[in-house]
Amino acid sequence: MQQLFNKKIEYLAGVGPKNSTKLKKLGIFTIADLLYYFPKSYIDFNTRSQFSRARIGDIIVIKGKILNIKNTRTSRRYFTITEAKVGELDSLDKIKEEFSINWFNQPYLKDVLVEESIWYFYGKVKYDFKNKKKILLSPLYEKKSGILPIYSLTAGITSKYLRKLITPILKKIADSPDFLPEKIKSEEKLVNLDFALTQIHFPTSMEKLCQAKKRLAFDELLLIILYLTLTRQSLASKQAPSISISKQLLLNFVRSLPYQLTNAQRRASWEIINDLNKNVPMNRMLEGDVGSGKTVVALMAALNVAKSGYQVLWMAPTEILANQHYKTTLNLLKKYNFHIVLLTSNNRKQITKNELSSANIIIGTHALLNTNNQFADVGLVIIDEQHRFGVKQRQQLIQMNNSNESQEDNSASLALPVPHFLSMTATPIPRTLALSIYSDLDISILDEKPCQRKEIITRLVDPINRSKAYDFISKQIDRGRQVFIICPLIEQKTDNRKLTTENQLFDLDRKSVKAEFDRLSKEVFPNYKIAMLHGKMPTKRKIGSDEKSKQQIMEEFKDKKYDILISTSVIEVGIDIPNASIILIEDAEHFGLAQLHQFRGRVGRGEYQSYCFLFTQNLSPKTQNRLKKLESCTDGFKLAEEDLALRGPGELVGTEQSGLVDLKLAKLTDIIMINSVKKVVAKILQNDIKKYPELLKKIKKFSEVKHLE
Ligand code: ADP
Ligand code: MG
Repeated sequence: MQQLFNKKIEYLAGVGPKNSTKLKKLGIFTIADLLYYFPKSYIDFNTRSQFSRARIGDIIVIKGKILNIKNTRTSRRYFTITEAKVGELDSLDKIKEEFSINWFNQPYLKDVLVEESIWYFYGKVKYDFKNKKKILLSPLYEKKSGILPIYSLTAGITSKYLRKLITPILKKIADSPDFLPEKIKSEEKLVNLDFALTQIHFPTSMEKLCQAKKRLAFDELLLIILYLTLTRQSLASKQAPSISISKQLLLNFVRSLPYQLTNAQRRASWEIINDLNKNVPMNRMLEGDVGSGKTVVALMAALNVAKSGYQVLWMAPTEILANQHYKTTLNLLKKYNFHIVLLTSNNRKQITKNELSSANIIIGTHALLNTNNQFADVGLVIIDEQHRFGVKQRQQLIQMNNSNESQEDNSASLALPVPHFLSMTATPIPRTLALSIYSDLDISILDEKPCQRKEIITRLVDPINRSKAYDFISKQIDRGRQVFIICPLIEQKTDNRKLTTENQLFDLDRKSVKAEFDRLSKEVFPNYKIAMLHGKMPTKRKIGSDEKSKQQIMEEFKDKKYDILISTSVIEVGIDIPNASIILIEDAEHFGLAQLHQFRGRVGRGEYQSYCFLFTQNLSPKTQNRLKKLESCTDGFKLAEEDLALRGPGELVGTEQSGLVDLKLAKLTDIIMINSVKKVVAKILQNDIKKYPELLKKIKKFSEVKHLE
């Protein structure tokens, strides 16, 4: 199985250069990636709705017979409308009601959905203003009932195409051996891997789909928890330098700050300083909402370590953040005469070996991970916004001290001290959850905010007041402020004329960065400078290219070159733009409360009263009430718990991307499964993992390929 899994997708029939590029956009490089590219949802054509009972906006499944079908062209914009008259069939295949279906710009449908043919339709009920009646708009159609997988797609790749690629692979892996021992499978009531992979793509029943999901989720958790446990065990057996606590030094530092520390900051610093004092490596996560003041806590740890003669490595996910920390550190540690170095991929060449090995504190980006770097005596590694990094990078940094030694030679590296480790994250994970998955970490929480900050005024804006909101924004810009606008999509997946049925169904109504950019620059804010930011822009500027990088745009925004920045959710966590005073979020219902709260943290960082405007096209009381929670609640942890209660475990936005893993099926909130996985892991380790060679191979592979970003 493994050999087949490692093969590149180009190896498959039906994947030429064009399609392979598109597949890669979806993150599919190998056959394993393809098999593990799970459907985002399923349509169960076995359960049927009744057209007469459906309300506008409902998504329904109907079995129907085509009574007649015709194409008409509209004079405006050359639209083709395909209109079918359909008879809805009851369980005895008798026609019980007639209604219309419309599709746009797919004239060929007339030759597929011929008169008298019978289909299963899946689509949204809409109101046809012209004829004043309910219709079905652009539904998917299937010949057979059954469960149909739907994948997240990119332009040019359809669910049908993916299904066609996956089918033959599943045949090949049928009955191949499984890395999970039979005993564990039977005890935990787990199905075989080949069965699970087959059912996740082509479920024959909802029950089997459930079994498949359970097995695959179990695998995800098993690998990560096993990996973390092994890491923790090996770390606990190592030595770290014991950093003595310089009370006077810390006291003087705290007195020199332009503000008073919050109690939470005091508590967290104390926990950290005490850990550093021990001779086993600290492995602690500092968790605190945006703006809770994590930096200064890390800085106190850094100060104590540097004063003891050990180096501090401090890694941030972007150059802007590294720069920001560098400046703060220079400023607050001015009087200690430390040698502080900024290390990024841009300036790496200018920094001499000597400088690196003599520096007290080195602040940088991924460039820190370069294996050519020679650090001296690293006592503390700090990672900011740790959810942006993978487990492996964390591991790599911890091993920085040993980078000259052969990693294979365990006895040698065992003797070497490893640094203490502090990670920071703004992802508010409720404590119980955090403890259940990050069982390899100790946790300090900053649950209190520096008080003098002004509250951000948050409003869920009624759609009819949109222009008022824009007027308000204009006034703020005229006063010199800046504005963020967040949209869920980069672009409408294809232009209107090429809309596929699937895209029409799922994404038609959502706002995109590019469309909003056009609309706002032309119609609403023609006199202001507007920029776009999204995940398809390059991270770094390519030589010879005019295209700006994300970083550049952020920097230019910070330098006030733009008044408005329209962005997807990629917008930097942690970036400080004190001049920005408004954030407007479109289609807010697509985000979790905790994530919306994080967006909101982009503003209110300076002296100005700041505002967060939420828009949604969904007027259901449930959505409205959920979003209204943000108006009154400013506590990220509470909001995360609301998410948990309101949207269920799977939707706790943030936790899934919290840096350790990209879990596809398993939920960090599934405490029951996590506990049983933990028991299995304990058993395996008790029994000696070497007795499970297949599993051992898998975990080795896992630690090698763990995604780096
Ligand atoms: P985050 O936790 O999001 O990383 P920062 O460390 O960037 O937050 O702090 C945000 C801002 O709050 C900074 O400008 C910092 O100087 C300021 N700050 C930190 N602690 C306090 C405090 N106790 N009182 C007032 N301001 C503080
Ligand atoms: Mg920060």
